[in-house]
Amino acid sequence: LNNSRPTTHDPRICIIGAGPAGSIAALILSRAGIATTLIEQHRFPRDKVCGECLSALGIDVLRRLRFRGLPNVALLNRAILFDQTGRRTEVRLPRPMWGISRNVLDEYLLNAARAAGTKILQPARCEQIIAGENPQLRIRDLESNELQTIDADFIILADGKAALLPAPPSPTADMGLKAHFANVNAPADAIELFSARGHYGGIAPIENGLWNIAFSVPQPRVRDSRGNLDALFANIIAENIALSDQMRDASRVGEWLVSALPRFEGFSNWPMNVIPVGNAAAAVEPIGGEGMGLAMRSAELAANHLVNAIHRNIPLNIKSLQSAYRRLWRVRRFACRAAAMAVSSPRISRAAFALARTDNSLTTLALRAIGKF
Ligand SMILES: Cc1cc2nc3c(=O)[nH]c(=O)nc-3n(C[C@H](O)[C@H](O)[C@H](O)COP(=O)(O)OP(=O)(O)OC[C@H]3O[C@@H](n4cnc5c(N)ncnc54)[C@H](O)[C@@H]3O)c2cc1C
Repeated sequence: LNNSRPTTHDPRICIIGAGPAGSIAALILSRAGIATTLIEQHRFPRDKVCGECLSALGIDVLRRLRFRGLPNVALLNRAILFDQTGRRTEVRLPRPMWGISRNVLDEYLLNAARAAGTKILQPARCEQIIAGENPQLRIRDLESNELQTIDADFIILADGKAALLPAPPSPTADMGLKAHFANVNAPADAIELFSARGHYGGIAPIENGLWNIAFSVPQPRVRDSRGNLDALFANIIAENIALSDQMRDASRVGEWLVSALPRFEGFSNWPMNVIPVGNAAAAVEPIGGEGMGLAMRSAELAANHLVNAIHRNIPLNIKSLQSAYRRLWRVRRFACRAAAMAVSSPRISRAAFALARTDNSLTTLALRAIGKF
């Protein structure tokens, strides 16, 4: 057990990143009376590339933490898949998902962590982790530009990309693209997935009668657009009849956001006293709408392991945490990759639709994985 140093003072935890993973970990640790500092580089509310559908996995974490429900959440009961020719297949979600913007959700969770006693450094960027017996963080205050070094007993890495690990994951060939729209002609209780030429995307209702649109797009296609994302999206729309139909009267109400789309698994070789959570631990294909749920659940697991070790004054059981992570990510990783391939490829998607007409199995394999565990 490498992350197991007994302490002679009250343990201090530093968390890097206030996405769903970082804020949930901070909330649990602070409620348990453990001194916790959360470092976030952006001011909130801030937008983020995401499909903005929260799966039952994440909703369950919020319920266990006694959140009483978020304002204006869109309740999603169905998933509808459209191929490029407009053919549709629909499955009822085994458990509802929520449509909610990252603007609202992430600020809500951060405020809950603050109310529980978490010390928040924002806007501040962690520039370096010095792992080891006595881990330290190099933090830059983004208002004063001053650099300070903070001591911790454990560091939770929740930066959404594992960029501060000694061997960060290599980038994928895909980008995520998203914006909010008004007047989309789409159902208010469904997450919809659309095939485009060799890739895919989705539409989901969020709060205030708006819609979030998010696509996975191959990097060359984004590069070729030379920054004209409206033109890129118009081309994507033209590749799917159902999408063209639903977007006819729609108007964009927020900025386009583009970011690298991560996809990796890294449950070994964590630096001493550093615990990755959420997308810093592993990232699945976004098609299943599971990323935030996985972020929250992995943060809950990591924080509970830490609380248990600290309160009982025993070593942190890293092996137990890593095997819980493996169980969490295993099925979803394959189901979401398979679903992304099926939806992105016209040939496979034809076969998927033929199968879906008889027993729904291929699409439901992936879509039922949403919120299953
Ligand atoms: C196209 C697309 C669609 C998606 N659709 C969905 C969906 O519908 N449903 C779903 O559940 N998931 C979806 N996801 C995945 C989801 O967005 C991620 O899984 C989720 O955001 C991971 O949460 P996290 O807390 O681990 O990291 P993030 O949400 O990435 O949060 C990381 C935070 O760390 C901060 N940070 C980073 N580096 C530093 C630093 N050095 N110092 C200080 N702060 C730092 C960032 O500013 C950020 O606030 C989608 C992803 C993409 C790309």
